[in-house]
Amino acid sequence: MMSHLHLLKITIWKIFCRGCGYVWVLMFLLSSLHGQFYFGRNKIQYEQFDWQVLTTPHFQIFYYPAEETLAQAAAFWAEEAYGELEQKFNHTLARLVPLVIYSNHLHFQQTNTIPYLIPEGVGGFFEFMKGRVVLPNNGSMYDFRRVIRHELVHVFMHAKINAKAQEAGTWNYRYPPLWFTEGLAEWWSTGWDTEAEMVIRD
Ligand SMILES: [Zn+2]
Repeated sequence: MMSHLHLLKITIWKIFCRGCGYVWVLMFLLSSLHGQFYFGRNKIQYEQFDWQVLTTPHFQIFYYPAEETLAQAAAFWAEEAYGELEQKFNHTLARLVPLVIYSNHLHFQQTNTIPYLIPEGVGGFFEFMKGRVVLPNNGSMYDFRRVIRHELVHVFMHAKINAKAQEAGTWNYRYPPLWFTEGLAEWWSTGWDTEAEMVIRD
């Protein structure tokens, strides 16, 4: 049984872009499976983090003391992206967005915000159900900024679609396809470049 589930997990991961674990479909599936199969059990958490919170006008940034500088950078880039995306989407977010940051990929993989192992190569993700963004730093500030921007495109798109659906008084709407949501996220986080094109074709 576990091997079937493992295959299912791998198959689901394969439909995500390389740089992003945009996990809303997955969260839905797992929340229905979790109680039955204890996905969390094979996940090792061997470090305790002393979480601190940095509050900015639009974000709550969760970090641990060693990441103070990184948290400041995240605050700056998140607010920078917020200003641009608020205009592009013509939408204001109603609540502060929680950003959980990890100073390296090993710490990120231990995150207990989702109950399964995070594959190598996932650059960050947006938790659809909780409206929370979880981000690792791979050592490159350029990538860190890009991932923040990428995930915030998802946050805004999700909020805008929800707001429009609510306005129309319906929950019966189709979410845009992955090629569109990932394409827009890459485009608005980097500009259209060859790397983005590779992600789309992947
Ligand atoms: Zn994405």
